[in-house]
Amino acid sequence: MRVVIGGGTGFVGRHLCRLLREHGYRTTIISRKEGPDQMTWNSLSELGLPEDCTAVVNIAGENILNPMVRWSEEFKNAVISSRVDTTKMMAEMIKKARNPPKVFVTMSGVGYYEPSPTAEYTESSTGGDFDFLSRLCTDWESAGSLPDDMAVRRVIVRSGVVLGRDGGMIQQLFLPFFLGIGGKIGTGKQWFPWIHIADISGIICHAIKNDDVTGILNGVAPEMATNSDFTQAYGRAMWRPTVFPIPTFMIKFMYQSERSKIILEGQKVIPKRTLESGYKYVFPDLKSTCSDCAKLMSS
Ligand code: NDP
Repeated sequence: MRVVIGGGTGFVGRHLCRLLREHGYRTTIISRKEGPDQMTWNSLSELGLPEDCTAVVNIAGENILNPMVRWSEEFKNAVISSRVDTTKMMAEMIKKARNPPKVFVTMSGVGYYEPSPTAEYTESSTGGDFDFLSRLCTDWESAGSLPDDMAVRRVIVRSGVVLGRDGGMIQQLFLPFFLGIGGKIGTGKQWFPWIHIADISGIICHAIKNDDVTGILNGVAPEMATNSDFTQAYGRAMWRPTVFPIPTFMIKFMYQSERSKIILEGQKVIPKRTLESGYKYVFPDLKSTCSDCAKLMSS
């Protein structure tokens, strides 16, 4: 049983590979670089999927919130192509495979849903067509479409902000919070759809293992929180004050207006189908998640 994982070298990918191996799967990562148990995208396109591949996952994607790179047309194209073109290539490889895998899981984001202080979104809510990020999610999701007559399950995970000690947002927040200079972002009233790294990898693994899981799953925790709730919970877990808010203008300066919306605005997202599918969260609440993310070393 082998799972092929595009973007498996990243934060989510490292945790996912470890979890899949614990569940008895072999893993092959598709990357831009050569490496052990790794293929490049070029060799995937030349050689196709390994014969023993039972599942294909694509979580590749250029880091949108890299503050070192300006939000230029060139960067936006890299953000799109690293998600849409890689997903398309994997779909093509599945169509060409002599023994197609049983399931194709791809990542998307809660940016599909329009930010709002009042709306509540489940997997069946509309969205995906109001700004750059929402259209990116729509294109990313449809890039993985397969013909109806192919017996390959399709699962799309719309992820919230992934929290874990060794990557993503926490890696950037740990030092300021440790030094006692952490604080809410902007007003702090914006929804903060979040998920622990163990659960985003857990949901993907659950989708691979369970034949009845199909379609969209919201990759967020069941406990809803605002940015302010998260800031207070993380400050408490670190035993530090959180009295230094990061002003809106600073976030807009660092990330430019279109991209800063990801941080300054948010959506209240409910994992309705994820819970109905039988997934049991390891970290369903903010308190246990923040305690885990406050550790000096990742577990
Ligand atoms: P990382 O940035 O840690 O890893 C993403 C991987 O994608 C990298 O390891 C890299 O693999 C590959 N990649 C990066 N740029 C490119 C590119 N230009 N072309 C092809 N491949 C590229 O991301 P995460 O693990 O945190 O996230 C995984 C996915 O989940 C991403 O698609 C992200 O958008 C999505 N997501 C993440 C959230 C989060 O909070 N972390 C929230 C919502 C969605 P290599 O260098 O080996 O080629």
